[in-house]
Amino acid sequence: MMKSSNLGYPRIGADREWKKALEAFWAGKLQEEELRSQLQELRLNHLKKQQEKGIDYIPVNDFSYYDHILDTAAMFGIVPKRFSYDGGVVPLSLYYGIARGTKDATASEMTKWFNTNYHYIVPELDGAVPVLTENKPLIAYREAKEKLGIEGKPVIVGPLTFLKLSKGYSRTETDAWLNRLLPLYVQILQELASEGVQWVQIDEPILTSKLSVEDLNRLKTIYETFASAVPTLNIMLQTYFESVEQYKEITQLPVQGLGLDFVHGLSGNLASLQSLGFPENKVLGAGVIDGRGIWKASLRAKQELLKKLTSYVKPEQIIIQSSCSLLHVPVTVSYETKLGSELKDALAFADEKLDEIVLLTKVARGDVADVTAELEENERAYQTFQLSDKRKREDIQQAIASFADQKFERHLPFAERHQAQQKKWQLPIFPTTTIGSFPQTAEVRKARQLWRKNEWSNEQYAEFIRKEIDIWIKLQEEIGLDVLVHGEFERTDMVEFFGEKLEGFAFTQNGWVQSYGSRCVKPPIIYGDVAFLKEMTVEETKYAQSLTERPVKGMLTGPITIMNWSFVREDIPREQIAYQLAYALRQEVEALESAGIGMIQVDEPAVREGLPLKAEDQAEYLAWAVKAFRLATCTVQDTTQIHTHMCYCEFHDMIHSIDAMDADVISIETSRSHGELIHSFEVNTYTKGIGLGVYDIHSPRVPDVAEMTAMIERALQVLDPKLFWINPDCGLKTRGQKETVASLRNMVEATQLARSNSALNV
Ligand code: GLN
Ligand code: ZN
Repeated sequence: MMKSSNLGYPRIGADREWKKALEAFWAGKLQEEELRSQLQELRLNHLKKQQEKGIDYIPVNDFSYYDHILDTAAMFGIVPKRFSYDGGVVPLSLYYGIARGTKDATASEMTKWFNTNYHYIVPELDGAVPVLTENKPLIAYREAKEKLGIEGKPVIVGPLTFLKLSKGYSRTETDAWLNRLLPLYVQILQELASEGVQWVQIDEPILTSKLSVEDLNRLKTIYETFASAVPTLNIMLQTYFESVEQYKEITQLPVQGLGLDFVHGLSGNLASLQSLGFPENKVLGAGVIDGRGIWKASLRAKQELLKKLTSYVKPEQIIIQSSCSLLHVPVTVSYETKLGSELKDALAFADEKLDEIVLLTKVARGDVADVTAELEENERAYQTFQLSDKRKREDIQQAIASFADQKFERHLPFAERHQAQQKKWQLPIFPTTTIGSFPQTAEVRKARQLWRKNEWSNEQYAEFIRKEIDIWIKLQEEIGLDVLVHGEFERTDMVEFFGEKLEGFAFTQNGWVQSYGSRCVKPPIIYGDVAFLKEMTVEETKYAQSLTERPVKGMLTGPITIMNWSFVREDIPREQIAYQLAYALRQEVEALESAGIGMIQVDEPAVREGLPLKAEDQAEYLAWAVKAFRLATCTVQDTTQIHTHMCYCEFHDMIHSIDAMDADVISIETSRSHGELIHSFEVNTYTKGIGLGVYDIHSPRVPDVAEMTAMIERALQVLDPKLFWINPDCGLKTRGQKETVASLRNMVEATQLARSNSALNV
C-alpha cells in the first residue's frame, strides 16, 4: 500500500515562536532551560500536527536550535580551532558562538544551502578530532515516541554531503576524513537500529551534482559500510533540488529506498526512470509535492505523474512525499486573512502541502469515495487562478517583447565613463561608503508599526523618517565617509519595500521562512505581470541629498534579487519576470537621476542564489540575469555612477558575468569567507570600481583598525588601488547604533592609514 511521507517541517513556528525564543535567549531574557522547554513544546506541536494529518513517515531530528549542518558538526565535536572546546557535548553557548561569533572569535562562514535562500554554517574540519558527542537522531526519535507515540523517521545529513559542504581540509585528505566520520555514522545507525527504528532518511542532496569517480567510490564505500553494519535498518537515500546525475550508480547502492525530486528534477529523473527503470528491491520516495514553491498543486496533474511512475515502479513500492524539506515554505495559509480569495485559494504552505500529500496518497490507494469533493475543489481553485485576468498587463508584455534584441549598453565604455565620473565627483583615493541601511532600531520599527496601524498619519511617519535621515547624514559626515546613504529607514525589507509599490505583487501577513539562524524573511508573491506605478525612493533620497554636499547614493534592489527573494508565478519563464522587474526599475533609476541623484546602487545580493545547480543550465541563467541588470541601468548619463552590491557568495565562477553587468562600482562581502574571494582576484583581473567588505556585519563585534588594515592590504595586493573602495560587508540594519558608529570610525581610520601609506596619495 502506498505510504505518505514528509522530509522536514519548518522550525520557526506559525507565530515565529522559534525566532522569538532564540532571540530572547541571546538577549539574556530567557534561561537555557526555558529555551529548551519552549523549543520542545514547539517541536512536539509540529510532530503532532503531522501525526493528526495522517502522514505515515514523520521526520524527526529535522528540528534545530539554529541550523542542521551546524547540528551535525556539533554532534561530531567538530568545532573551529579558534573556539576553546575540550570535548564532550557542545554547550549551547559554544554552539551559538560558532554561529554568531563571540567577542574573542569570529563566527564560522555561512553559505547558501544549494540553490535555496537558506544559509547553513560551514563546518571547519581543520584540527578537529571527530567523536560522537551525542546521538541527536536517537534523542529525537525517543522523544517523539515517548511523548506522542510516533514511530519517527530520523533525518541525518549524509556523510558525502557533509564532507562536500565542509571546509578546512584539502582534497587529498578526503578519504582520511571519511574514515574518521564513517565509524561515527555507523555508531549512530547501530544505536538507532537497536532502538527499533524502521526507516532513516539520509539526506544526500549532493547527488544532484556530477560526482567524480573518486566520490562515486566513496559513496559506494559509505553505503556498503552502512548495509553491512546495520542490515536491518531501512535507509531512504534522499536527494532533492534537482535530478540525480549518476542515476545508474546511485540505484545500485545497497539502500532500501531512494528519494527523488519529481518537481525540480522532474525531467531528468523521469528520463532516468524511463531509460534505466527502477530496482525491484527498492522503495521510491516520490517527491511530487513541491517543497519549495508556495503554489497549490494540481492534484489531477500529480495523479497523472504518479500514474507515469507506476509504469516503472510497483505502487506498493512508492512513498508519496514532498520534493524536499518544507523548511523552505511558510507554515500555513490559514493565517492569511487579507489576500484575495482567488490568490489565497491558489496557495499551499507547509500544512496545506501535508494535506495534499495525504490526499494524494488516499487517492492513490483507491480511497477516492470520501475525497472526491476535495479533489474537485482543488481543481477548481487551481484553474480559476491560472485563468485569472488579474495577472495580465498587455502593455508590459508588449514592451518586454520589443526589447528582445537590444544589448542595453551604457553610452561610453567603463574606462571613459570612469574618467568623467572622477572629474565630476573628485573622490579621494579609496573612497569610503556603506552598503545602504543603518540600524533599524526598536524606535524605527515602532514608528513603522504605528503608521501601518494608521495610528500615525503619512506625514507623521515621513517626519520621523526625515529625522532619522538627519541624524545619520550628520553622523556619516562626522565619521568622515565619502559617499553617503540615506539609511533605508523607511524599508523593512529590501524586496518587500519595492514589491509593495509595484503592480503584480501580493503580500502575506505571516508567510515567513527561515533565511539563516533566527533571521526569517517574508517573501512577496509575484503573481502577475509587474509594472511601475509611481516613484518609490525619490523622496527620501532627495531629502538626504539636500542635507549634504557629499554625494548620496540612491538605493534600489535589483531585478534578479527581487525575483530570487520572492515566490514567483510559474506560468511564465523566470527570465520574463526578471525583465518585467528590470523595466520597472529602469523607470525608478531614471526618476532618481532626474531628481539630481548621481550615484545609484542597484543591489543584486541574490544573483548567485538563482544559479541553477546543473552546470549546463548556468550560462543561460547568467546571461539573462546580466541582461536584466543592464536593462535596468543602461540609460543613465556617463557621469551617473551605477553601483551594485552582492553578498555571501562564491564569485570565482561568475566574475565574468559580474563584469558584464557593467556597474561602475561593485561592493562584495568578503570578511566571512576569510579572504577566499580575494584569492579569486589573483587569478582573474577585475577592472572596474570595487569595494571588498572589510568587516563582518553579521556579528555585533566591533573590529579594530589593525584587523581592517590587514583586510585592505591583502585586497590591495590583487586589486588596482585606483579602483578600490572601502566599505563594510553588507547593510547595517541588523546592528546597533553604537557598534555601527564605532566600527565605521575604525574603518575610516584604517582608510586614512591606507591612504597615507599609498604611493598614489599625492
Ligand atoms: N542596501 C541593502 C542594505 O544595506 C543591501 C542588503 C543586502 O545586500 N542584503 O540593507
Ligand atoms: Zn549584502
